[in-house]
Amino acid sequence: MSLEIELVPCLKDNYAYLVREGGLCAVVDPSEAAPVKAALARHGGKLTHILNTHHHWDHTGGNLALKEEFGAEVVGPGKDRERIAGLDVGVTEDALWQFGSHQVRVLEIPAHTKSHIAFVFDDERAAFTGDTLFAMGCGRLFEGTPDMMWSSLSKLMKLPDDTRIYCGHEYTMSNGRFALTVEPDNADLQARMREVESLRAKNAPTIPSTIALEKKTNPFLRPNSAEIRRTLGLEKASDVEVFAETRRRKDAF
Ligand code: ZN
Ligand code: FE
Repeated sequence: MSLEIELVPCLKDNYAYLVREGGLCAVVDPSEAAPVKAALARHGGKLTHILNTHHHWDHTGGNLALKEEFGAEVVGPGKDRERIAGLDVGVTEDALWQFGSHQVRVLEIPAHTKSHIAFVFDDERAAFTGDTLFAMGCGRLFEGTPDMMWSSLSKLMKLPDDTRIYCGHEYTMSNGRFALTVEPDNADLQARMREVESLRAKNAPTIPSTIALEKKTNPFLRPNSAEIRRTLGLEKASDVEVFAETRRRKDAF
């Protein structure tokens, strides 16, 4: 059976996602309960699972209220048990987790937090990347090093090109503006920004992205770009050094 994925805007710029298959319905990263309940009510649905990519409150704030109302099972990083409100099932990279007929792969992608994970539905070409990989951006390094983030992003880059990327925030416009400062001549980036500007002018989401599009336009996945290296004055540096400098510049952008 195929999955249905619905975006649920939360707070100012967060996205939760409803993921449905048959009688099952999961929500990914519910910042708050109210918009998730409203989205469920529109379909007369019941929530069976809550999936968390990491412990930050803007990804777990709705856990307890939703769990209490629906008896939904909370699934999240097993290595962060104490920090995930209401966690029932702790998952790790070593084991598949089953959602209906779908085998879901867990990727451990630390650095934004030390136990951040992604949920990957391989058969549906869909990945929920939380605050690690954004459209044209990546998460801040709150609990990890540039090395750690680069290896987490490299792991995501191995997903098939047509994998859809569902991330935790609508940061695309400001990410793209930053991207243009380090790689102004990237034609794919320029074209994407025109599209993003027209979507945002209509207040429409820019999500999902795809791995292919991120590889062409996301500066954090492009430390081998000659133009980025030239802009940063790091022609001879390693990929991690270029990544780290790109991240530093974005922090100050
Ligand atoms: Zn976060
Ligand atoms: Fe967040």
